[in-house]
Amino acid sequence: MTFDYDLFVIGGGSGGVRAARIAAAEGGAKVGLAEESRMGGTCVIRGCVPKKLMVFASEFPGQIEDAAAYGWKVKAEGFDWPKFRTTLEAELTRLENAYRNTLKNAGVTMHDMRAVVVDPHRVRLANGDEFTAKHILIATGGRPFVPAIPGADLAVTSNEMFHLDALPKRALVVGGGYIASEFACILNGLGVDVAQYYRGAQILRGFDDEARGHVANAMAAHGVAIHCGTDVERLERRAGGICAIATDGSEREFDLVLYATGRVPNVAGLGLDHLGVALGSKGEVLVDDWSQTSVPSIFAVGDVTDRINLTPVAIREGHAFADTVFRGVPTKADHELVASAVFTQPELGSVGLSEEAAAALGKTEIYTATFRPMKTLFAGRQDKVLMKLVVSVETRKVLGCHIVGPEAGEMIQLAAIAIKMGATKEDFDRTVAVHPTMSEELVTMRKPTRVV
Ligand code: NDP
Repeated sequence: MTFDYDLFVIGGGSGGVRAARIAAAEGGAKVGLAEESRMGGTCVIRGCVPKKLMVFASEFPGQIEDAAAYGWKVKAEGFDWPKFRTTLEAELTRLENAYRNTLKNAGVTMHDMRAVVVDPHRVRLANGDEFTAKHILIATGGRPFVPAIPGADLAVTSNEMFHLDALPKRALVVGGGYIASEFACILNGLGVDVAQYYRGAQILRGFDDEARGHVANAMAAHGVAIHCGTDVERLERRAGGICAIATDGSEREFDLVLYATGRVPNVAGLGLDHLGVALGSKGEVLVDDWSQTSVPSIFAVGDVTDRINLTPVAIREGHAFADTVFRGVPTKADHELVASAVFTQPELGSVGLSEEAAAALGKTEIYTATFRPMKTLFAGRQDKVLMKLVVSVETRKVLGCHIVGPEAGEMIQLAAIAIKMGATKEDFDRTVAVHPTMSEELVTMRKPTRVV
Protein backbone atom coordinates (compact mmCIF):
# COMPACT_ATOMS: atom_id res chain seq x y z
CA MET A 1 0.00 0.00 0.00
CA THR A 2 1.28 3.46 -0.80
CA PHE A 3 0.74 6.34 1.57
CA ASP A 4 0.58 10.10 1.04
CA TYR A 5 3.23 10.49 3.74
CA ASP A 6 5.77 8.25 5.44
CA LEU A 7 5.17 10.25 8.61
CA PHE A 8 2.44 12.64 9.67
CA VAL A 9 3.21 14.63 12.81
CA ILE A 10 0.41 16.27 14.78
CA GLY A 11 1.86 19.14 16.80
CA GLY A 12 4.61 21.62 15.89
CA GLY A 13 6.27 21.92 19.28
CA SER A 14 9.69 20.83 20.47
CA GLY A 15 9.15 17.07 20.09
CA GLY A 16 7.14 17.11 16.87
CA VAL A 17 9.41 19.52 15.04
CA ARG A 18 12.54 17.56 15.94
CA ALA A 19 11.01 14.25 14.85
CA ALA A 20 9.75 15.74 11.58
CA ARG A 21 13.08 17.33 10.75
CA ILE A 22 15.21 14.27 11.44
CA ALA A 23 12.81 11.92 9.66
CA ALA A 24 12.74 14.16 6.57
CA ALA A 25 16.27 15.56 6.40
CA GLU A 26 18.23 12.58 7.69
CA GLY A 27 15.82 9.70 7.15
CA GLY A 28 14.67 10.67 3.65
CA ALA A 29 11.04 10.39 4.72
CA LYS A 30 8.11 12.26 3.18
CA VAL A 31 6.76 14.16 6.16
CA GLY A 32 3.65 16.24 6.82
CA LEU A 33 3.11 18.24 10.01
CA ALA A 34 -0.04 19.92 11.29
CA GLU A 35 -0.06 22.68 13.91
CA GLU A 36 -3.29 24.42 14.92
CA SER A 37 -1.61 27.31 16.72
CA ARG A 38 1.80 28.88 16.21
CA MET A 39 4.78 26.82 15.11
CA GLY A 40 7.20 26.24 17.96
CA GLY A 41 4.68 25.04 20.53
CA THR A 42 4.45 25.76 24.22
CA CYS A 43 8.16 26.16 24.89
CA VAL A 44 8.76 28.79 22.24
CA ILE A 45 5.43 30.59 22.09
CA ARG A 46 3.95 30.47 25.61
CA GLY A 47 6.45 28.77 27.87
CA CYS A 48 10.19 28.51 28.48
CA VAL A 49 11.34 31.19 26.04
CA PRO A 50 8.99 34.11 26.83
CA LYS A 51 9.12 33.09 30.51
CA LYS A 52 12.91 33.37 30.60
CA LEU A 53 12.80 36.74 28.85
CA MET A 54 10.37 37.88 31.54
CA VAL A 55 12.75 36.57 34.18
CA PHE A 56 15.51 38.70 32.66
CA ALA A 57 13.21 41.75 32.61
CA SER A 58 12.26 41.23 36.23
CA GLU A 59 15.85 40.93 37.46
CA PHE A 60 16.90 44.42 36.40
CA PRO A 61 15.57 46.39 39.38
CA GLY A 62 17.74 44.35 41.74
CA GLN A 63 20.69 44.57 39.41
CA ILE A 64 20.28 48.34 39.12
CA GLU A 65 20.23 48.60 42.92
CA ASP A 66 23.40 46.53 43.03
CA ALA A 67 24.99 48.72 40.35
CA ALA A 68 24.29 51.74 42.56
CA ALA A 69 25.99 49.97 45.46
CA TYR A 70 29.00 49.48 43.19
CA GLY A 71 29.15 53.21 42.60
CA TRP A 72 27.07 53.68 39.46
CA LYS A 73 24.73 56.65 39.45
CA VAL A 74 21.62 54.81 38.24
CA LYS A 75 18.12 54.09 39.37
CA ALA A 76 15.22 52.13 37.91
CA GLU A 77 12.54 54.57 36.85
CA GLY A 78 9.69 52.23 36.07
CA PHE A 79 8.93 49.38 33.75
CA ASP A 80 7.30 49.92 30.36
CA TRP A 81 5.27 46.71 30.02
CA PRO A 82 3.75 47.50 26.56
CA LYS A 83 7.25 48.18 25.22
CA PHE A 84 8.57 44.90 26.62
CA ARG A 85 5.53 43.00 25.35
CA THR A 86 5.97 44.39 21.82
CA THR A 87 9.66 43.43 21.72
CA LEU A 88 8.80 40.02 23.16
CA GLU A 89 6.18 39.44 20.48
CA ALA A 90 8.67 40.38 17.75
CA GLU A 91 11.19 37.93 19.19
CA LEU A 92 8.62 35.14 19.29
CA THR A 93 7.68 35.84 15.67
CA ARG A 94 11.38 35.63 14.75
CA LEU A 95 11.68 32.29 16.49
CA GLU A 96 8.48 30.98 14.97
CA ASN A 97 9.80 31.85 11.52
CA ALA A 98 13.08 30.13 12.32
CA TYR A 99 11.14 26.96 13.16
CA ARG A 100 9.19 27.25 9.92
CA ASN A 101 12.38 27.70 7.90
CA THR A 102 13.96 24.70 9.56
CA LEU A 103 11.01 22.53 8.61
CA LYS A 104 10.82 23.97 5.12
CA ASN A 105 14.52 23.39 4.51
CA ALA A 106 14.13 19.82 5.74
CA GLY A 107 11.38 19.28 3.16
CA VAL A 108 8.52 18.95 5.64
CA THR A 109 5.08 19.98 4.37
CA MET A 110 3.37 22.21 6.94
CA HIS A 111 -0.39 22.34 7.44
CA ASP A 112 -1.42 25.31 9.59
CA MET A 113 -4.52 23.80 11.09
CA ARG A 114 -5.77 21.18 13.47
CA ALA A 115 -5.50 17.52 12.51
CA VAL A 116 -7.21 14.51 14.05
CA VAL A 117 -6.59 10.82 13.63
CA VAL A 118 -9.23 8.94 11.64
CA ASP A 119 -7.74 5.47 11.52
CA PRO A 120 -4.30 3.98 12.22
CA HIS A 121 -2.99 5.33 8.91
CA ARG A 122 -5.17 8.35 8.20
CA VAL A 123 -5.46 11.92 9.48
CA ARG A 124 -8.08 14.56 8.75
CA LEU A 125 -7.34 18.27 8.69
CA ALA A 126 -9.75 20.95 9.90
CA ASN A 127 -10.49 21.87 6.24
CA GLY A 128 -11.66 18.32 5.55
CA ASP A 129 -8.58 17.16 3.63
CA GLU A 130 -7.48 13.66 4.51
CA PHE A 131 -4.04 12.13 4.18
CA THR A 132 -2.75 8.62 4.63
CA ALA A 133 0.51 8.05 6.48
CA LYS A 134 2.59 4.97 7.22
CA HIS A 135 3.32 6.36 10.67
CA ILE A 136 1.54 8.99 12.74
CA LEU A 137 3.27 10.87 15.56
CA ILE A 138 1.19 12.51 18.29
CA ALA A 139 3.15 15.45 19.69
CA THR A 140 0.33 17.69 20.86
CA GLY A 141 1.83 18.62 24.24
CA GLY A 142 -0.23 19.76 27.20
CA ARG A 143 -2.33 22.64 28.38
CA PRO A 144 -2.91 24.35 31.72
CA PHE A 145 -5.29 22.68 34.13
CA VAL A 146 -7.52 24.85 36.33
CA PRO A 147 -9.58 23.14 39.03
CA ALA A 148 -13.34 23.68 38.76
CA ILE A 149 -13.76 26.06 41.70
CA PRO A 150 -16.55 28.65 41.64
CA GLY A 151 -15.27 31.70 39.78
CA ALA A 152 -12.46 29.80 38.01
CA ASP A 153 -13.23 31.79 34.86
CA LEU A 154 -11.91 34.92 36.63
CA ALA A 155 -8.42 33.42 36.72
CA VAL A 156 -5.82 33.43 33.96
CA THR A 157 -3.25 30.73 33.16
CA SER A 158 0.36 30.96 32.03
CA ASN A 159 -0.96 31.13 28.43
CA GLU A 160 -2.34 34.61 29.05
CA MET A 161 0.59 35.97 31.06
CA PHE A 162 2.52 37.15 28.01
CA HIS A 163 -0.39 39.14 26.58
CA LEU A 164 -1.68 41.12 29.57
CA ASP A 165 -2.96 44.60 28.70
CA ALA A 166 -1.28 45.98 31.78
CA LEU A 167 0.65 44.65 34.73
CA PRO A 168 -1.52 44.19 37.81
CA LYS A 169 -0.77 46.01 41.06
CA ARG A 170 -1.75 43.00 43.20
CA ALA A 171 -1.50 39.42 41.99
CA LEU A 172 -2.36 36.06 43.45
CA VAL A 173 -0.51 33.02 42.13
CA VAL A 174 -2.09 29.67 42.94
CA GLY A 175 0.07 26.53 42.95
CA GLY A 176 3.50 25.59 44.17
CA GLY A 177 5.16 24.03 41.12
CA TYR A 178 7.62 25.33 38.54
CA ILE A 179 5.22 27.69 36.81
CA ALA A 180 3.60 29.17 39.91
CA SER A 181 6.91 29.78 41.65
CA GLU A 182 8.57 31.24 38.57
CA PHE A 183 5.71 33.65 37.86
CA ALA A 184 5.49 34.68 41.52
CA CYS A 185 9.13 35.78 41.27
CA ILE A 186 8.74 37.41 37.87
CA LEU A 187 5.77 39.51 38.97
CA ASN A 188 7.47 40.38 42.24
CA GLY A 189 10.57 41.53 40.36
CA LEU A 190 8.42 43.66 38.06
CA GLY A 191 7.06 45.50 41.08
CA VAL A 192 3.75 43.67 41.52
CA ASP A 193 2.54 42.93 45.05
CA VAL A 194 2.46 39.10 44.95
CA ALA A 195 0.82 36.48 47.14
CA GLN A 196 1.31 32.77 46.39
CA TYR A 197 -1.18 30.24 47.78
CA TYR A 198 -0.07 26.63 47.85
CA ARG A 199 -2.14 23.79 49.31
CA GLY A 200 0.86 21.75 50.53
CA ALA A 201 3.42 22.30 53.28
CA GLN A 202 6.23 23.63 51.08
CA ILE A 203 6.46 24.80 47.45
CA LEU A 204 8.33 22.86 44.73
CA ARG A 205 7.27 19.42 45.89
CA GLY A 206 9.53 16.69 44.52
CA PHE A 207 12.74 18.69 44.80
CA ASP A 208 15.27 18.25 47.60
CA ASP A 209 13.65 19.50 50.82
CA GLU A 210 16.55 21.66 51.90
CA ALA A 211 16.86 23.23 48.46
CA ARG A 212 13.18 24.06 48.18
CA GLY A 213 13.17 25.47 51.69
CA HIS A 214 16.11 27.65 50.69
CA VAL A 215 14.25 28.90 47.59
CA ALA A 216 11.06 29.57 49.55
CA ASN A 217 12.90 31.53 52.24
CA ALA A 218 14.72 33.62 49.66
CA MET A 219 11.51 34.28 47.71
CA ALA A 220 9.83 35.42 50.91
CA ALA A 221 12.80 37.64 51.78
CA HIS A 222 12.49 39.23 48.32
CA GLY A 223 8.84 40.03 48.95
CA VAL A 224 6.70 37.13 47.69
CA ALA A 225 4.07 36.43 50.35
CA ILE A 226 3.99 32.61 50.27
CA HIS A 227 1.00 31.06 52.05
CA CYS A 228 1.48 27.31 52.37
CA GLY A 229 -1.39 25.11 53.48
CA THR A 230 -3.71 27.57 51.76
CA ASP A 231 -5.95 27.00 48.77
CA VAL A 232 -8.63 29.05 47.06
CA GLU A 233 -12.22 27.99 47.75
CA ARG A 234 -13.80 30.40 45.31
CA LEU A 235 -13.18 33.56 43.35
CA GLU A 236 -15.65 36.44 43.17
CA ARG A 237 -15.68 39.63 41.15
CA ARG A 238 -16.03 42.56 43.57
CA ALA A 239 -15.81 46.31 43.16
CA GLY A 240 -12.19 46.38 44.32
CA GLY A 241 -10.99 43.48 42.17
CA ILE A 242 -11.10 39.69 42.16
CA CYS A 243 -11.70 38.41 45.67
CA ALA A 244 -10.06 35.12 46.63
CA ILE A 245 -11.90 33.39 49.44
CA ALA A 246 -9.34 30.96 50.83
CA THR A 247 -9.39 27.81 52.93
CA ASP A 248 -7.80 29.71 55.82
CA GLY A 249 -10.90 31.92 55.96
CA SER A 250 -9.20 34.96 54.45
CA GLU A 251 -10.79 37.15 51.76
CA ARG A 252 -8.35 39.20 49.74
CA GLU A 253 -8.72 41.23 46.61
CA PHE A 254 -6.37 41.07 43.66
CA ASP A 255 -6.17 42.58 40.18
CA LEU A 256 -4.97 39.31 38.67
CA VAL A 257 -5.28 35.68 39.73
CA LEU A 258 -2.94 33.25 37.99
CA TYR A 259 -3.65 29.56 38.27
CA ALA A 260 -0.57 27.40 37.75
CA THR A 261 -1.95 24.15 39.09
CA GLY A 262 -0.43 21.71 36.66
CA ARG A 263 -0.87 20.78 33.02
CA VAL A 264 -2.81 18.02 31.30
CA PRO A 265 -2.10 16.17 28.06
CA ASN A 266 -3.73 17.55 24.90
CA VAL A 267 -5.73 14.58 23.68
CA ALA A 268 -9.34 15.81 23.63
CA GLY A 269 -11.02 15.23 20.29
CA LEU A 270 -7.92 13.77 18.62
CA GLY A 271 -9.74 10.53 17.93
CA LEU A 272 -7.28 8.35 19.80
CA ASP A 273 -9.78 6.67 22.12
CA HIS A 274 -11.92 5.50 19.17
CA LEU A 275 -8.89 3.77 17.68
CA GLY A 276 -8.06 1.93 20.87
CA VAL A 277 -4.90 3.92 21.63
CA ALA A 278 -4.36 3.22 25.33
CA LEU A 279 -4.53 6.33 27.52
CA GLY A 280 -3.57 6.74 31.19
CA SER A 281 -5.66 8.18 34.02
CA LYS A 282 -4.77 11.80 33.15
CA GLY A 283 -5.45 11.16 29.47
CA GLU A 284 -1.75 10.77 28.67
CA VAL A 285 -0.88 8.60 25.69
CA LEU A 286 0.71 5.43 26.99
CA VAL A 287 3.87 4.48 25.11
CA ASP A 288 6.68 1.94 25.40
CA ASP A 289 10.41 2.72 25.53
CA TRP A 290 10.30 3.38 21.78
CA SER A 291 7.45 5.91 22.14
CA GLN A 292 5.14 3.46 20.37
CA THR A 293 1.48 3.40 21.43
CA SER A 294 -0.79 0.35 21.63
CA VAL A 295 -1.62 0.94 17.94
CA PRO A 296 1.65 0.01 16.16
CA SER A 297 1.57 2.73 13.46
CA ILE A 298 0.95 5.50 16.01
CA PHE A 299 3.73 6.93 18.18
CA ALA A 300 3.72 9.76 20.71
CA VAL A 301 6.41 12.00 22.22
CA GLY A 302 6.63 14.92 24.63
CA ASP A 303 4.21 16.21 27.25
CA VAL A 304 1.25 14.36 25.74
CA THR A 305 2.89 11.17 27.07
CA ASP A 306 3.44 12.73 30.54
CA ARG A 307 6.85 11.13 31.13
CA ILE A 308 9.23 13.95 32.07
CA ASN A 309 7.53 17.14 30.91
CA LEU A 310 10.50 19.17 29.80
CA THR A 311 11.38 20.50 26.34
CA PRO A 312 14.82 18.87 26.08
CA VAL A 313 13.23 15.52 26.94
CA ALA A 314 10.56 15.93 24.26
CA ILE A 315 13.32 16.77 21.78
CA ARG A 316 15.25 13.63 22.72
CA GLU A 317 12.11 11.51 22.46
CA GLY A 318 11.30 12.95 19.02
CA HIS A 319 14.86 12.42 17.84
CA ALA A 320 15.02 8.86 19.16
CA PHE A 321 11.73 8.04 17.43
CA ALA A 322 13.00 9.38 14.08
CA ASP A 323 16.34 7.58 14.47
CA THR A 324 14.57 4.32 15.21
CA VAL A 325 11.86 4.39 12.59
CA PHE A 326 13.43 6.37 9.74
CA ARG A 327 17.19 6.07 10.10
CA GLY A 328 17.48 2.41 11.05
CA VAL A 329 19.26 3.32 14.29
CA PRO A 330 17.20 1.87 17.14
CA THR A 331 17.39 4.46 19.95
CA LYS A 332 15.55 4.75 23.24
CA ALA A 333 15.24 8.17 24.85
CA ASP A 334 17.19 8.18 28.10
CA HIS A 335 15.12 9.42 31.04
CA GLU A 336 17.78 8.87 33.71
CA LEU A 337 19.49 11.75 35.50
CA VAL A 338 17.71 14.54 33.65
CA ALA A 339 18.79 17.87 35.09
CA SER A 340 16.38 20.79 35.28
CA ALA A 341 16.25 24.32 36.56
CA VAL A 342 13.45 26.28 38.14
CA PHE A 343 13.85 29.92 37.15
CA THR A 344 12.76 31.34 40.44
CA GLN A 345 14.79 34.14 41.99
CA PRO A 346 17.06 32.62 43.20
CA GLU A 347 17.23 29.82 40.64
CA LEU A 348 17.17 26.18 41.62
CA GLY A 349 19.25 23.75 39.58
CA SER A 350 18.85 20.09 40.30
CA VAL A 351 20.01 16.73 39.01
CA GLY A 352 19.70 13.24 40.45
CA LEU A 353 18.39 12.21 43.81
CA SER A 354 17.24 14.44 46.63
CA GLU A 355 18.64 13.82 50.11
CA GLU A 356 15.35 12.17 51.06
CA ALA A 357 15.25 9.84 48.04
CA ALA A 358 18.91 8.83 48.42
CA ALA A 359 18.57 8.21 52.16
CA ALA A 360 15.68 5.85 51.44
CA LEU A 361 18.00 3.76 49.26
CA GLY A 362 21.06 3.51 51.52
CA LYS A 363 23.56 5.31 53.72
CA THR A 364 24.21 8.72 52.26
CA GLU A 365 26.68 11.54 52.89
CA ILE A 366 25.34 15.05 52.51
CA TYR A 367 27.73 17.87 51.69
CA THR A 368 26.44 21.41 51.87
CA ALA A 369 27.88 24.86 51.55
CA THR A 370 25.82 27.97 52.26
CA PHE A 371 27.40 31.32 51.69
CA ARG A 372 26.85 34.87 50.51
CA PRO A 373 28.27 35.22 46.98
CA MET A 374 30.83 37.99 46.60
CA LYS A 375 28.98 39.95 43.92
CA THR A 376 25.83 40.60 45.93
CA LEU A 377 27.56 40.57 49.32
CA PHE A 378 29.56 43.57 48.14
CA ALA A 379 26.26 45.27 47.30
CA GLY A 380 25.04 44.64 50.83
CA ARG A 381 22.61 41.84 50.06
CA GLN A 382 21.85 39.01 52.44
CA ASP A 383 21.10 36.45 49.66
CA LYS A 384 22.78 33.13 50.22
CA VAL A 385 23.78 30.42 47.77
CA LEU A 386 23.26 26.75 48.57
CA MET A 387 25.49 24.06 47.06
CA LYS A 388 24.63 20.50 47.92
CA LEU A 389 25.99 17.09 46.97
CA VAL A 390 24.28 13.82 47.81
CA VAL A 391 26.83 10.97 47.91
CA SER A 392 26.40 7.21 48.28
CA VAL A 393 28.55 5.90 51.13
CA GLU A 394 28.73 2.52 49.47
CA THR A 395 29.66 3.43 45.86
CA ARG A 396 31.06 6.94 46.54
CA LYS A 397 29.04 8.10 43.52
CA VAL A 398 27.52 11.56 43.57
CA LEU A 399 23.83 10.70 43.33
CA GLY A 400 22.48 14.20 43.33
CA CYS A 401 23.45 17.84 43.09
CA HIS A 402 21.24 20.76 44.08
CA ILE A 403 22.21 24.38 43.64
CA VAL A 404 20.24 27.45 44.68
CA GLY A 405 21.62 30.78 43.58
CA PRO A 406 22.33 33.02 40.60
CA GLU A 407 22.98 31.02 37.42
CA ALA A 408 22.13 27.73 39.10
CA GLY A 409 20.64 26.58 35.79
CA GLU A 410 23.95 27.13 34.02
CA MET A 411 25.92 25.40 36.77
CA ILE A 412 23.71 22.34 37.05
CA GLN A 413 24.07 21.62 33.33
CA LEU A 414 27.82 21.13 33.82
CA ALA A 415 27.54 19.23 37.08
CA ALA A 416 25.04 16.93 35.33
CA ILE A 417 27.71 15.79 32.85
CA ALA A 418 29.98 14.57 35.64
CA ILE A 419 27.11 12.92 37.48
CA LYS A 420 25.83 11.27 34.31
CA MET A 421 29.33 9.89 33.80
CA GLY A 422 29.16 8.34 37.26
CA ALA A 423 31.59 10.68 39.00
CA THR A 424 32.45 9.88 42.61
CA LYS A 425 32.88 12.40 45.38
CA GLU A 426 36.63 11.81 45.04
CA ASP A 427 36.43 12.78 41.34
CA PHE A 428 34.87 16.07 42.41
CA ASP A 429 37.59 16.47 45.10
CA ARG A 430 40.50 15.98 42.72
CA THR A 431 39.13 18.62 40.34
CA VAL A 432 40.95 21.88 41.04
CA ALA A 433 38.70 24.83 41.84
CA VAL A 434 38.15 27.79 39.53
CA HIS A 435 38.61 30.83 41.70
CA PRO A 436 36.85 33.07 42.55
CA THR A 437 33.54 31.53 41.52
CA MET A 438 30.46 30.23 43.28
CA SER A 439 30.73 26.79 41.72
CA GLU A 440 34.18 26.17 43.17
CA GLU A 441 32.34 25.16 46.33
CA LEU A 442 31.29 22.01 44.49
CA VAL A 443 34.88 20.75 44.52
CA THR A 444 35.99 22.10 47.89
CA MET A 445 33.46 20.57 50.30
CA ARG A 446 35.73 18.21 52.27
CA LYS A 447 33.68 16.97 55.22
CA PRO A 448 30.09 15.75 55.08
CA THR A 449 27.60 18.03 56.82
CA ARG A 450 25.76 14.89 57.91
CA VAL A 451 25.36 11.22 57.15
CA VAL A 452 21.77 10.03 56.70
P1 NDP B 1 3.52 21.23 38.55
O1 NDP B 1 2.98 19.87 38.41
O2 NDP B 1 4.98 21.46 38.66
O3 NDP B 1 2.84 21.95 39.77
C1 NDP B 1 1.44 22.02 39.91
C2 NDP B 1 1.16 22.70 41.24
O4 NDP B 1 -0.24 22.92 41.35
C3 NDP B 1 1.56 21.84 42.42
O5 NDP B 1 2.05 22.70 43.41
C4 NDP B 1 0.25 21.19 42.83
O6 NDP B 1 0.18 20.89 44.19
C5 NDP B 1 -0.73 22.29 42.52
N1 NDP B 1 -2.06 21.76 42.23
C6 NDP B 1 -2.40 20.76 41.41
N2 NDP B 1 -3.72 20.57 41.38
C7 NDP B 1 -4.25 21.48 42.23
C8 NDP B 1 -5.56 21.76 42.65
N3 NDP B 1 -6.61 21.08 42.19
N4 NDP B 1 -5.74 22.75 43.55
C9 NDP B 1 -4.68 23.44 44.02
N5 NDP B 1 -3.42 23.21 43.66
C10 NDP B 1 -3.19 22.23 42.78
O7 NDP B 1 2.89 22.00 37.31
P2 NDP B 1 3.23 23.38 36.62
O8 NDP B 1 1.93 23.83 36.06
O9 NDP B 1 3.96 24.31 37.52
O10 NDP B 1 4.21 22.94 35.47
C11 NDP B 1 3.85 21.89 34.56
C12 NDP B 1 5.09 21.20 34.08
O11 NDP B 1 5.76 22.04 33.17
C13 NDP B 1 6.11 20.89 35.16
O12 NDP B 1 5.87 19.64 35.75
C14 NDP B 1 7.40 20.92 34.44
O13 NDP B 1 7.71 19.63 34.01
C15 NDP B 1 7.16 21.85 33.27
N6 NDP B 1 7.84 23.15 33.46
C16 NDP B 1 9.19 23.20 33.56
C17 NDP B 1 9.83 24.39 33.75
C18 NDP B 1 11.31 24.44 33.86
O14 NDP B 1 11.97 23.46 33.48
N7 NDP B 1 11.88 25.51 34.38
C19 NDP B 1 9.09 25.64 33.83
C20 NDP B 1 7.68 25.47 33.74
C21 NDP B 1 7.10 24.28 33.56
P3 NDP B 1 0.78 19.54 44.81
O15 NDP B 1 2.26 19.74 44.91
O16 NDP B 1 0.12 19.46 46.15
O17 NDP B 1 0.38 18.44 43.89
